[in-house]
Amino acid sequence: LASRTFRSEDTVITIGDLRIGGDEVIVMAGPCSAENEAQVLSTAAAVRRAGAKVLRGGAFKPRSSPYSFQGLGEEGLKMLRTGADAHNLKLVSEVMDANQIALMDGYVDIYQVGARNMQNFTLLRELGKVRKPVLLKRGISATIEEWLLSAEYVLAGGNTDVILCERGIRTFESYTRNTLDISAIPVVKKLSHLPIVVDPSHGTGRRDKVAPMARAAVAAGADGLLIEVHCDPDNAMSDGAQSMYPGQFERLMAELRIIAPAI
Ligand code: PEP
Ligand code: MN
Repeated sequence: LASRTFRSEDTVITIGDLRIGGDEVIVMAGPCSAENEAQVLSTAAAVRRAGAKVLRGGAFKPRSSPYSFQGLGEEGLKMLRTGADAHNLKLVSEVMDANQIALMDGYVDIYQVGARNMQNFTLLRELGKVRKPVLLKRGISATIEEWLLSAEYVLAGGNTDVILCERGIRTFESYTRNTLDISAIPVVKKLSHLPIVVDPSHGTGRRDKVAPMARAAVAAGADGLLIEVHCDPDNAMSDGAQSMYPGQFERLMAELRIIAPAI
């Protein structure tokens, strides 16, 4: 079902007035985690002003250490929904477990499946039953074939709205947090009709590397970007080092419009 041989035209996913997978390039931006109301509101205002269409932000956080900040749960979802509505943005947030789907349904427009859950087949099957798009991140060590098979789990359940997200893979290189696989964009475009967005924030782990990789992704044909932006990255509770300052993000958006005028 994910294959071009099944469907030759590109899939375009509609969320209200937003179209993902068409001629436009959609930018989703916001903090790694919702931390407090002021942080979410100020970051949402900044990304909207710069031209983002979707607010990103985590309420359930898959942290490597159980002692790191785990997210605010439903309180965080409330803040994110308020921030998105206040600035006319759609909202994408990560679902870590199938038992969170019912709760999250009242808040999100797009369910994000994190890299660590790409092969949580129970979760993928449950997301096959929902009527909202699923943004499926590539697993940390997943091949493109495995990633497309994970998309297949959601599609086979009856949910046709899957957005793939390349977020970097683990290689021997340690300078960057992950190695962003730009080549996945043309490969996925050839193999599948599904839209693909790119996350250069987790893909590099360093905010000064986000803009060049974002430009590269759009030039290579990505349908969108998922970018971490924080109103005060130096004091962020997660992923501060890769979170852009609002001014930096605004400059990037202007640069991206040169490559893809429809941003
Ligand atoms: C995130 O988007 O904040 C996140 C945890 O991403 P990933 O699953 O790609 O690590
Ligand atoms: Mn993050």
